[in-house]
Amino acid sequence: MTEKLSILGSTGSIGTQALDVCENAGIAVTALTANSNAKLIEAQARKFKPKMVALADEVAAKELKIRLGDTDIKVLGGQKGVCECAAEETADTVLNGIVGMAGLEPTLTALGAKKGLALANKETLVAGGSLVTRTAKENNIRILPVDSEHSAIFQCLQGMNKKQELKSIILTASGGPFFGKTRAELENVTVAEALRHPNWSMGAKITVDSATMMNKGLELIEAVWLFDVSPSEIQIVVHRESVVHSLIEYVDNSVIAQLGVPDMRIPIQYALTYPERIPSPVKRLSLSDYKSLTFSKPDYETFRCINLCRSAIEKGGLFPAIANGANEKANELFRKGKVGFLQIADLVEAAISNGVSKDNYTLSDVLEADRAAREFVESHVR
Ligand code: NAD
Ligand code: MG
Repeated sequence: MTEKLSILGSTGSIGTQALDVCENAGIAVTALTANSNAKLIEAQARKFKPKMVALADEVAAKELKIRLGDTDIKVLGGQKGVCECAAEETADTVLNGIVGMAGLEPTLTALGAKKGLALANKETLVAGGSLVTRTAKENNIRILPVDSEHSAIFQCLQGMNKKQELKSIILTASGGPFFGKTRAELENVTVAEALRHPNWSMGAKITVDSATMMNKGLELIEAVWLFDVSPSEIQIVVHRESVVHSLIEYVDNSVIAQLGVPDMRIPIQYALTYPERIPSPVKRLSLSDYKSLTFSKPDYETFRCINLCRSAIEKGGLFPAIANGANEKANELFRKGKVGFLQIADLVEAAISNGVSKDNYTLSDVLEADRAAREFVESHVR
């Protein structure tokens, strides 16, 4: 059970909900970080009284230093400052709610400092899977999943005796705002339409990833690393209601699921109170309020990103980093109105075909693969 927590990405969707959880659970907050929102992090710092705060943006960090000038909270700037917060001395656990590859070095720093790690930042586990899991092992840290599907699997696994008893993992997917649409119908969808998720309110990047279903592909890779299973042992099923958060299948064909209302405060809290459970302010699940729960096969032809990710992790090496880097850039360009919705998968596919991989990669290899994939996407859009 976490007592003192450092929250990375505290101004985001995960970060603000993590602060709610801390308030409810009586967890002390010892450090907070964000990218550039000085006003919001100032308010959070005044309320939660951490020892240190950091903004990745140096200019915004200077502004924050002035804003918090009347307090004794240490204010830091840049990636270095964020990493310092990830290793804050008194914290026993770090929650990484940063979006994208910017979370990689803070994750490695937290593990190196032997902090417990509650991980929402899936992109860095996708891109640097072997590096992150090796660092966790070396420091004797078990990574606790925050992503709802992975928390569900982790919860289902609590009843497992031996690893050999597990047959497969079944990841559920909401299908996003474009479920049931044809490729022709997706040709000209707008950013506003992609941002209208049916069940979850999340940051813009992951919401677009849910619309392309790249999010499920990233989650497949995330599951490979978190649960040490092969990609072929992971099935994906569309479940529109987002009530069954994922399932596991045992060798005797018994299937165990975890259910709940779609509210991230449940998986966030479980990662922080594990192995204990405490009461939560989240709404209780009333199954009879749902007329039915539905399950169907994903439309892999329309939502091509799922299988692009599956092939990237099957190829191994740096291919997941290339797929992730290309997607981060293509997703950003889509949100800026510079590429069409269907182009996102095309760009990820082209980056993978063009990418150069390497087994036994280092941190600098991952960062270079990420940079090259982004550059590849940019140069193909101009
Ligand atoms: P968000 O955009 O709402 O928040 C991102 C946070 O990261 C913000 O605090 C922002 O300031 C910070 N940040 C952004 N760029 C940064 C940089 N360069 N350096 C340091 N900090 C930076 O995103 P989110 O929806 O909260 O998602 C965060 C992560 O959690 C993502 O990896 C996402 O895939 C994962 N996740 C989110 C949800 C959800 O419900 N929101 C669910 C499952 C997984
Ligand atoms: Mg998820």
